[in-house]
Amino acid sequence: MNKKPFVTKSQVEEIVKTYPTPFHIYDEKAIRANAQAVKEAFAWNKGFREYFAVKATPNPFLIDILREYGCGCDCSSKTELMLSEALGVPGEFVMFSSNDTPAEEFAYANKMGAIINLDDFTHIDFLEKTIGKLPETLSCRYNPGGVFKMSNGIMDNPGDAKYGFTTEQLFEGYKIMKEKGVKNFGLHAFLASNTVTNEYYPMLAKQLFEVAVKLHEETGADIKFINLSGGVGIPYKPDQEPNDIRAIGEGVRKVYEEILVPAGMGDVAIYTEMGRFMMGPYGALVTKAIHEKHTHKEYIGVDACAVNLMRPAMYGAYHHITVLGKEDAVCDHKYDVTGSLCENNDKFAVDRMLPEIEMGDYLVIHDTGAHGFAMGYNYNGKLKSAELLLKEDGSVQLIRRAETPKDYFATFDQFDFYKNLKF
Ligand SMILES: *Cc1c(COP(=O)(O)O)cnc(C)c1O
Repeated sequence: MNKKPFVTKSQVEEIVKTYPTPFHIYDEKAIRANAQAVKEAFAWNKGFREYFAVKATPNPFLIDILREYGCGCDCSSKTELMLSEALGVPGEFVMFSSNDTPAEEFAYANKMGAIINLDDFTHIDFLEKTIGKLPETLSCRYNPGGVFKMSNGIMDNPGDAKYGFTTEQLFEGYKIMKEKGVKNFGLHAFLASNTVTNEYYPMLAKQLFEVAVKLHEETGADIKFINLSGGVGIPYKPDQEPNDIRAIGEGVRKVYEEILVPAGMGDVAIYTEMGRFMMGPYGALVTKAIHEKHTHKEYIGVDACAVNLMRPAMYGAYHHITVLGKEDAVCDHKYDVTGSLCENNDKFAVDRMLPEIEMGDYLVIHDTGAHGFAMGYNYNGKLKSAELLLKEDGSVQLIRRAETPKDYFATFDQFDFYKNLKF
């Protein structure tokens, strides 16, 4: 498949007159179409709700768009809870799926009426001590251990992951929670990340549904929802076949009919916490070629760096690159595309075949809409970029301004920082 950027060279040339590179830009039209498709794919389930994983793209303008399609927020920290609150998201639309959770964050989530998804058996006690009495609704994260296998091999390694209750802890935990007055139970698991196959959710659902039936039978717990969490992936590489959310929804429906309905659990709500699938393909990092270097390899230096997009440096992740205006040119040059950090892993691409790049060319780094800007940091004193929204009518809205040096220095409260420094 030919991966085409959602902005053209002439659009970018217009945008940079107001917002210089680098910046992340998001495609409103495509975000909406995808959110609508997710909603329709699970419409068979009356209680279905997608809790968007805020950590993927913590921008209120973008989350507000998803809210129109019935989405809630999945939060992993206090500031993410606060962001949901700032958006006016009601408590039952907020999932708090956190781990190694500070007491203060549990208290905050409880106070705002968020649904708490416990990561560990000992957190039952910890939560009770923190807030006095367990809430009426409580969920547990399950980790069956071992490896998560599908027809095309091992997908991930839950046995090596820090998250969740073991099977025994889950059954024991449900009994204790029930004794302590919990009335509405949830079950959650996240067993494989960035799965590019329509099989993942249905396979995970089958495993969770079977456990849910047993939990219900053995403990009498009233299971209200099963949360398939995140992990639905996107095709970062051009030769990958994208997931079909309708096929995924239909696959989950089949196992629901097979396992939950016959057990008298046909009223269980299905929840999801997708991040990557909701936003990943609909964001891009736009950057400009500012240096070319011919040494032991051919390098193109751009004005973005790992601070703007960490995934290649952190995981060696592939992000497709298009040179704007050269979409159809032959890729007959082999480059390392680098940022400016004093870290040799600050490379957006290694040995990538691209068209010949000239200084001033704009490069679109694809699929940065989730876990892109959000993972940003400030190493080397580099500042975070702006985020822009390409609206449905073709206009561009600034949805987060770029950081300034003042933002970077803002926490030196105890030092007279501006005595010698003049802006
Ligand atoms: C990161 C995360 C998600 C979102 O994962 P994606 O792969 O972006 O869909 C959902 N739930 C939890 C608990 C997470 O930690």
